Amino acid sequence: MNPPPDAPSPRPRVTLVGAGPGDPELLTLKAIRAIRAATVLLVDDLVGREVLRYARRHARIVDVGKRGGCRSTPQDFIERLMATEALKGERVVRLKGGDPGVFGRGGEEVEHLRAHGIEVEVINGITSGLAAATGLGVPLTHRDHAHGVILVTGHPRAGSTPLDWRRLATTAADGYTLVIYMGVAQAAQIQAGLLEGLPPDTPVAVVQHASLPQQRHAVAPLADLQAMLQREGLGSPAVIIVGNVLRGLQAVQPAARLSAAAA
Ligand code: SAH
Repeated sequence: MNPPPDAPSPRPRVTLVGAGPGDPELLTLKAIRAIRAATVLLVDDLVGREVLRYARRHARIVDVGKRGGCRSTPQDFIERLMATEALKGERVVRLKGGDPGVFGRGGEEVEHLRAHGIEVEVINGITSGLAAATGLGVPLTHRDHAHGVILVTGHPRAGSTPLDWRRLATTAADGYTLVIYMGVAQAAQIQAGLLEGLPPDTPVAVVQHASLPQQRHAVAPLADLQAMLQREGLGSPAVIIVGNVLRGLQAVQPAARLSAAAA
């Protein structure tokens, strides 16, 4: 049973909530319940504003956007703020785009909070890679084309081991769909690396703003990825999907660009 909303929180606790890819109808019931109960919400900038309509009127809403290349709130500030508010007895919700466990630094936040004796609950959200595939009308696995999926970042942390795109390509060629997050700015290197292990006509799709009314996408052979991005003016936030699960899509409409998915 949940305590009544106004009862003091029995133990300091933070709830990491996945807000999904943007469409508020993709929120889970658990996410809505947590947002409603929150007195303090720390919100990432990829979280759709409509989601906040479930927040209480007097809840404190702190924008902690961290879009690549833009002014962002340092991660340690976010972690300290969550801990301080939770220790004061506030019901803290950390709202993250997609799922907190997929490239959301959710893991780091959980470790920090637990180290401060704060209980952490994680509520799943629909990750944008899944929403992107659905927006295109393709599955991520298919018994004829892909027996697995690899979710990978196109933008690993500075100083960490660089991604071996050739090796990923070789694995993908064995029947795996690649779903690349944060990859559009690195598309030229990704294309060159993947071409070392995948045929140039491997289909690639880029889906921007998956699940939102402004969703756009384009499809091209791998060899044209960068050219297609430039031609179509597609940018972040976008997911790149690579693999033969896209073949059905191309068969339906062989032109390089497909119109926006039907609403
Ligand atoms: N935790 C998030 C990912 C955060 S990393 C999730 O599970 O979806 C941020 C990256 O996610 C963006 O650079 C982009 O690649 C992707 N992304 C987030 N929202 C998106 C959306 N609505 N459409 C397409 N890509 C999105």
